[in-house]
Amino acid sequence: MSEEKFPVKELEPLALDINDIVNPSTLRAHLALLTKLKDLEQPDEQIDMRYLLRAQERYILWLDLLGSRNFNDDNMPIPPIDVCYIWHSHLLSPLRYYEDMLRIYDPQQKFPDFPLKRLHDIWEKNNGHTDSNSESIWAERTKQPWVLDPNDSSDFKINCPWCKEDVQISWMNYVNLMKAIKADEKCPKCRAPYSVETLGAKRFIDDISSWNKYKTQYIG
Ligand SMILES: [Zn+2]
Repeated sequence: MSEEKFPVKELEPLALDINDIVNPSTLRAHLALLTKLKDLEQPDEQIDMRYLLRAQERYILWLDLLGSRNFNDDNMPIPPIDVCYIWHSHLLSPLRYYEDMLRIYDPQQKFPDFPLKRLHDIWEKNNGHTDSNSESIWAERTKQPWVLDPNDSSDFKINCPWCKEDVQISWMNYVNLMKAIKADEKCPKCRAPYSVETLGAKRFIDDISSWNKYKTQYIG
């Protein structure tokens, strides 16, 4: 076999410098973050799922908070640790994250980066995930506690995509619904059938209708 079949291309040095984002200091901060996220895991699977679903809802409130003011790197608050978890996971799909940000926010709006270094500095300085300025902005804007209680057994609230009413679902039914275990959950007001698929499909159809009407909203 000829060794010339796949000739080695003369490589040019890569014009890429990532030292400002990947270096021993950011790697240590990242590992500290992962350790903190691992500590959030609940031993019971149902409780863990309930905790994560609540964290997801709180992340949406956080995005809303970020979009409500022009924060810069100096005055941006940090989110609660459960929200950091969801934010970090969202960022692991960078193209999807970018698309979602375009979909939700004004494209001209500068969106703050994940504050990895800042979080690490705060943990070192305050010996925990606590920052009084961030906590008061979070509480004032979202009316949510800073620390998400894993034992919170209150109902979940969703906006029914069919009748547009706010409806309450017991946490156990909601967890099962999201795990696609129980298929016969219905809207208590309009009786529309709920499943992960029907909810997703209805929201997608609504997006298309909205796009056809206003031509401004991105389709997700
Ligand atoms: Zn309904």
